[in-house]
Amino acid sequence: MKPATATINGSALRHNIELIKSLAPNSKICAVVKANAYGQGISRVIKSLENHVDAFGVARIKEALTIQESGYAGKILLLEGFFDREELLKTLSRRFDTVIHCVEQLELLLQAAKEWQAEQEKGFWKRKTKIYFPITVWLKIDTGMHRLGVHPEQVAEFHQKLTACPLVEKVNFVSHFSRADELDCGYTEKQIEIFEAVSQHFDVERSISASSGILYWKQAHYDWVRPGIIMHGISPHNKPITDLGFKPVMTLSSSLIAVRSHKAHEPVGYGGYWVSHRDTNIGVVAIGYGDGYPRNTPEGTPVLINGRKVPVIGRVSMDMMTVDLGPDSIDKVGDEVVLWGEDLLIEEVADAIGVINYELITKLTPRVITEYKES
Ligand SMILES: *Cc1c(COP(=O)(O)O)cnc(C)c1O
Repeated sequence: MKPATATINGSALRHNIELIKSLAPNSKICAVVKANAYGQGISRVIKSLENHVDAFGVARIKEALTIQESGYAGKILLLEGFFDREELLKTLSRRFDTVIHCVEQLELLLQAAKEWQAEQEKGFWKRKTKIYFPITVWLKIDTGMHRLGVHPEQVAEFHQKLTACPLVEKVNFVSHFSRADELDCGYTEKQIEIFEAVSQHFDVERSISASSGILYWKQAHYDWVRPGIIMHGISPHNKPITDLGFKPVMTLSSSLIAVRSHKAHEPVGYGGYWVSHRDTNIGVVAIGYGDGYPRNTPEGTPVLINGRKVPVIGRVSMDMMTVDLGPDSIDKVGDEVVLWGEDLLIEEVADAIGVINYELITKLTPRVITEYKES
């Protein structure tokens, strides 16, 4: 009997990547694998994808180091750049691509370049064990998200300083949409317009589209697209994308560890706030918030048992939760319970719980067993 298990389908992952390539045929792909590849397991996702994408994008330098140490020798992009001098020096010695989004990062880089040049001139450099490589810097431009990025009017100055820096091999321009999943709000058109205007006089590679941009804003694919969640067959909003041909990569499942006959008017679980109005059978499932299944899951959220949806009832506890199997059920201890997967889409579950898909998959805990299959 298996407790909480995430089964990852490698061929579905590659199918989704091929689909992304067909949606953005003229763009290179920076596969975003932050947060343990969206909870799917970074090492295996890298192995599955390394020959199918042009770069990997991460949010923390630790994630970049993990990827490089797993043997991947290609391009790795720090999506928020280095956070301090120590990380910058690692970025240079490991030859990571980095975003620069603010003046503090620019100054750290220029300072390191100055020291590097001084040491080279003194001839000390050769004796050092650490070698720094000129790297590709992705200048982040704020086109309307107003979270990270330099203002459009600062772009020329940043670009000039970066291209003059001996530790910079190449400068790309990058930005990010804030409302790309809202097709009629008009905001994305404005962001594209600003990105166009600010980049038109520069000979740079450009990138602005993550998952929603790839799906809905063809005119904004540019040189690089940065897919994250859609690689896993999961929608960037709560409306499924299986009708676009994407295949869910993860199935989260567990097992029934008890089936109990239950009397009408009796409560179940902590707080006793769920009370059955009829005689029924209660199933106990070996998954809880200690595995990452949200504790505040409302009554009625579906799980799949023996091909039918049954409702979660009572409060989700750390290691278990309870479902109402119904008075006529024949489900047995050991039967599989699917929390989400191909036949119960995560979008439906997220919608019932009132969270976004991203949160459900990235909050799974290390206790969940991860298994990989190829078909
Ligand atoms: C997370 C992230 C992505 C990927 O986003 P999805 O919506 O999962 O495709 C792309 N670019 C940046 C800068 C990110 O932080």
